[in-house]
Amino acid sequence: LAKKAKGKTYTIATDTTFAPFEFRENGKMVGIDMDLVDRIAASQGFKVTIQSLGFNAALQALSSNQADAVIAGMSITDERKQVYDFSDPYFQSGVQMAIAKSDDAVKGYADLKGKTVTAKTGSEGEAYAKSIAKKYGFTVKSVDQSATMYEMVKAGNAAAVFDDYPVLAYGISQNNGLKTVTPKVPRGYYGFAVNKGQSAELLAAFNVGLKELKDSGEYDKILAKYLGANA
Ligand code: GLN
Repeated sequence: LAKKAKGKTYTIATDTTFAPFEFRENGKMVGIDMDLVDRIAASQGFKVTIQSLGFNAALQALSSNQADAVIAGMSITDERKQVYDFSDPYFQSGVQMAIAKSDDAVKGYADLKGKTVTAKTGSEGEAYAKSIAKKYGFTVKSVDQSATMYEMVKAGNAAAVFDDYPVLAYGISQNNGLKTVTPKVPRGYYGFAVNKGQSAELLAAFNVGLKELKDSGEYDKILAKYLGANA
């Protein structure tokens, strides 16, 4: 089945900024997801056109068949499995809260009472924040882009951001002005997604290529390239 992908060109939608999984460097999209797709496409003999749309927009592009697949640090969830088929998992992740580095008032969720937090539309971070919002008495303001939520926290327009912890850790290690004060909340693995029942050959080719990268040690090298000692 994977061989049927050979010679084809697929449109793959992704997020705009979700470092270290996808981000722009000197105008080029780079990151763990981009390297994985590049390598797998090369080894399995298919071509890709990357569309950097934003997370929610990427899912919409897939659902409306304007894209063949999404790779965007996208978590494999039971709800999403109703509409998408996922590849084998390729990265363990989950959600965490981050606040401004200069904020000494917020020490836990209880300190968010009466405040507004931000998260990305359609994301696991948003789902988690909404799941505890009532209990702790805060409001969730969703936005489409990572950059917007980080700016909101730094400008004091949101008390906290709920995002994936590998992404928060990467940003914090680059001195993005945020810090974490609450534990990580594990929420499964990232996968490459296609529409349910469609593009089975692309999914199969991705899985074959991913396994080859893992077996050869190339997968670890890609992680190390972006995560360094944190890989
Ligand atoms: N992993 C999260 C999700 O799937 C966030 C993905 C993202 O923001 N690109 O919802």
